[in-house]
Amino acid sequence: MKMSKMFMPTLREIPADAEITSHQLMLRAGMIKKMASGVYNQLPMGLRVFNKVQQIIREELEKKGCQEILCSGIIPAELWKESGRWDVMGAEMFRLKDRGERDYCLGPTHEEVFTDIIRQEVTSYKQLPLNLYQIQVKYRDERRPRFGVMRTKTFTMKDGYSFDIDQEGLDKSYQDMFEAYTNIFARCQLENSPVQADSGAIGGSVSAEFMVKSEVGEDEIVFCSGCDYAANMEKAESVDTTLPKEEMGELNPVHTPGVHTIGELEEFFGCSAERFAKTLIYEADGKTVVVLVRGDREVNETKVANAIGGAIEFELAREEVVRELTNAEVGFAGPIGIKADYIFIDREVAEQSNVGVGGNKTDYHIQNVNFGRDFDGVVGDFRNVVVGDKCTKCGGDLEIARGVEVGHIFKLGTKYSEAMGCTFIDNDGKSKPVVMGCYGIGVERTAAAIIEQHHDENGIVWPLAVAPYQVVIVPVNIKKEEHTKAAENIYRELQEMGVEVLLDDRDERVGVKFKDNELIGIPMRITVGKDITEGKVEFKLRNEAEKELIGLEEIKARIEAEFVKNNVKLG
Ligand code: ATP
Ligand code: MG
Repeated sequence: MKMSKMFMPTLREIPADAEITSHQLMLRAGMIKKMASGVYNQLPMGLRVFNKVQQIIREELEKKGCQEILCSGIIPAELWKESGRWDVMGAEMFRLKDRGERDYCLGPTHEEVFTDIIRQEVTSYKQLPLNLYQIQVKYRDERRPRFGVMRTKTFTMKDGYSFDIDQEGLDKSYQDMFEAYTNIFARCQLENSPVQADSGAIGGSVSAEFMVKSEVGEDEIVFCSGCDYAANMEKAESVDTTLPKEEMGELNPVHTPGVHTIGELEEFFGCSAERFAKTLIYEADGKTVVVLVRGDREVNETKVANAIGGAIEFELAREEVVRELTNAEVGFAGPIGIKADYIFIDREVAEQSNVGVGGNKTDYHIQNVNFGRDFDGVVGDFRNVVVGDKCTKCGGDLEIARGVEVGHIFKLGTKYSEAMGCTFIDNDGKSKPVVMGCYGIGVERTAAAIIEQHHDENGIVWPLAVAPYQVVIVPVNIKKEEHTKAAENIYRELQEMGVEVLLDDRDERVGVKFKDNELIGIPMRITVGKDITEGKVEFKLRNEAEKELIGLEEIKARIEAEFVKNNVKLG
């Protein structure tokens, strides 16, 4: 491609509304253009990268025997009603009606659609297993679209679904996808870790997220420093830390005017936060939920929501609800005598003696409160892990890092096949539900994560495997025929070799060209300047500072070597 003819609206300045590096660089490199909040159009430089990511995905999935299909982006409501998700998806789902007032949605994900396809075609165990995928635009009315294409209302997702006759088959399919994802992200040069994840609204029990460690990540990941344990904060567990058991003391109500927070309690009573329990009250789809965690802990809302079987709306209770449940002003909630639809007690609170809690009476707290004697509830793990907690697998120290989720794999089991009647006749003659898995990768988010890991102060540093173009040729002075002629020749030769090559034939100063080519991150640069009279050009890699003078006859071999080194196929 000749750069004089290209549509590449680059920006010199950092766009004011772009908070993170990948978003800034995608805008500056002219890859994407914003149309509305969370809605972007993809320009040539962007689309080429997104297509490369897609191609890597296709190749790795085909190696595992997956087949590509393409489903409709609009989905009739009936399918979602069959699975029970029409009412569960909430505001994130874009809904619409046709001229006959029939309900549809813009597909946010396609479990129902794939299940519907398979139930119509598959009758016998002989037709299974199957693993189908698509790469398609998804629509989600995200509450907080942000960070450019990291979280948008419409994005390209590879979503795949496996169909097996039994759990063993699913385990194999899941393992295959685990390996395929590992290979995909390795080829994208994305350092990532698979972590145990919460399965959320999609259902199923086992799932792993592929997380790219990054300061800008919206997820918190818990890692063990001693073993391979890694889990999303939503799901992560740690060893209980309980104070030594004491003899139960007598309940002791204390007048504590104006003392609300754990900090204020510590000061008032002169003891540390672990001696208290916090009582939090939530509203979940119209039900009230009380949760107790120790004073030094935070509630893990995902664990609580899962404990009630999931909730569409899950929020801290409104003040009037708190007042009604506790008969007191906000800030004095406690477990004794509280009436709620659900009461959950974190294990550490249940195991501890003589806890301090709110008195359910304005300006009162109570000391020496003991689980079992003074209050009751369902005991479990309802807290967040914090740094310094110990690993439940090996006892090692847990650490916390931020991460961007680029891919997610789930074992769905028979949730959808049972709800939607997707069955087959097994070789014992019995009708059984198909056992399913589902597997997703966000294409644009993956590209953004690559930029987060591969950039410098001058711009993007694309790994060769996903670069929009692989080589750029820069004639230093387009007024000099010896520069332009030689550049044209190299350009043609490289094209014949199958290299994706740019010729920077723009009438610009060479410094401007270098800046642009660094910004857009082209991995190899060949500069044709004064040394061409001796048959030499300058060769430079985007990710290295050194430049070398090489002979014209060496160019091909030098470029080929880079392809080999990066494990990228030519042509
Ligand atoms: P998140 O927790 O970030 O909202 P999710 O759990 O909703 O993600 P999945 O439904 O598992 O995501 O979707 C599969 C993949 O699609 C994700 O791993 C991510 O790469 C991508 N993805 C999901 N939502 C968005 C979005 N709003 N914008 C861009 N990519 C997205
Ligand atoms: Mg989401």
